[in-house]
Amino acid sequence: MKMKSILYALVACLILISLASCATVTGNVYPLSSGYIKHDNLYKELFAISSSSPALAQLRIIGFSSTETLPIYALEIGHKDAPKTALIIGQHHGDEVLGVNVSVAFARQLVREYAVNTDYKQLLRQYRFWIVPSLNPEGFRVVSSGIFEFKRKNNTDTDGNKRLDVRTDGIDLNRNYPVFWDLDPDTNIHSPYYKGKAPVSEKEIQAIIALAQTQNFEIAIFMHSSASGAYSEKLYLPANANDSELFVQTKQLAQTYAHAVKKDYSSGTYEVHEGKTSAVGNARNFFFHRLGTKAFLVEIGGINSRGQSVIHPNDKMLNKIVAKHLRALEKLFLQQVDTR
Ligand SMILES: [Zn+2]
Repeated sequence: MKMKSILYALVACLILISLASCATVTGNVYPLSSGYIKHDNLYKELFAISSSSPALAQLRIIGFSSTETLPIYALEIGHKDAPKTALIIGQHHGDEVLGVNVSVAFARQLVREYAVNTDYKQLLRQYRFWIVPSLNPEGFRVVSSGIFEFKRKNNTDTDGNKRLDVRTDGIDLNRNYPVFWDLDPDTNIHSPYYKGKAPVSEKEIQAIIALAQTQNFEIAIFMHSSASGAYSEKLYLPANANDSELFVQTKQLAQTYAHAVKKDYSSGTYEVHEGKTSAVGNARNFFFHRLGTKAFLVEIGGINSRGQSVIHPNDKMLNKIVAKHLRALEKLFLQQVDTR
């Protein structure tokens, strides 16, 4: 009898230990662990990259956030006379921080490889990259400083009570672009997807549109990692695009990227979502339809074996995810290089 109860206790202990280790391996970690770039050290990270190669990489401020006037940083990387331009936005939604790390790591890789790798030399003679790690510094600040894990919108005082209601205030920056804005039915100011009173009402969106109008981007990639989990590990193309030549080329780029990234928690690679995508005022619809940019969205978050959406994984998983997306970006862009 005594032996039996010791055995039971041992089994119970083992189950508890394995549950605890599962939770740390595959779940969300909040406040964000040390591997994540935070709002408060983003400038330092970007400055280190630009100052390591000032002739190739310049740190820019493309505008300021709507309420707190926080700077929106970009790194411009490549030869001044490169004929083509590409845009990578790491973050529109405050809680979707994986793309911040991916985009900054890509900037670092461009600069580092340029020094030693002839393919990258060629790439940066043909492309100038604009890398905007966070287009939503207000949401990023709230999430990365440990105030609220799932702050998606910016901090615009949508209910007009002159204070920040961190869970409800704000505008979804990826619903505030002017193409298809009018088709978005969600007008509830408390909705996490609230599109704003008017298209381009937000300074963040004014800033990126102003940049896009001067840079004529050939390719634009938007990194997301939705907390809902419903869109995980897929790429999304512009809506209502039919099968124009531009759409076919955009889809080919997205497929190259998707097939280069293995899923985190299940087998197979990322896929390009087939069929309808949202006709709302989001970035890919604006860049594609208004500017003729090959624009697509990458959903980086994953669903773990327990069906949880994981968008703030631990450092080990974070590093794995960043490395995979760097390989996909490298593959996609080196394929564009004209080696003649
Ligand atoms: Zn998002």
